[in-house]
Amino acid sequence: MTLEEMQRSVHANARAHGFWEGCYVPEHAPRLDQFRNLAEVPLVRAEVLKQIPEKVALLHSEVTEILEAYREHPDKCDRDDLFYVGDEWRTREQTVVSPPKPAGIREELADIIIRCGDLAEALGIDLSKAVRQKMDYNATRPFKHGKTC
Ligand SMILES: [Mg+2]
Repeated sequence: MTLEEMQRSVHANARAHGFWEGCYVPEHAPRLDQFRNLAEVPLVRAEVLKQIPEKVALLHSEVTEILEAYREHPDKCDRDDLFYVGDEWRTREQTVVSPPKPAGIREELADIIIRCGDLAEALGIDLSKAVRQKMDYNATRPFKHGKTC
């Protein structure tokens, strides 16, 4: 799956689950250069831009959940073969829910990428291009970006 496919998919799933309810965002958020009716651009952007504070807060909550996962289960927080069900860790075979809910650091890292993809899609941002541009820029930066520690 490409990053573009991922962001389209997570945004479609977020919309289907009501996370953009009440916000006017086209089903497949066009890139800004794809709008047929340019008068629609400010309307769509204003609606999406209003969502940014909440979306950023939720993104931050996922970062905090990484710390929680580490603090609660430091010995299991990076396992991809265990699932946290009820109050205990189980293997896939021990779970009755399908698919079982992932847990730990890997789940929260995935949540961060999912939330970034959702917001990027709503904003019409090509996340793959944005990441590539930032990586190219970062490669030119000095050691520790010029900081001493
Ligand atoms: Mg989470």
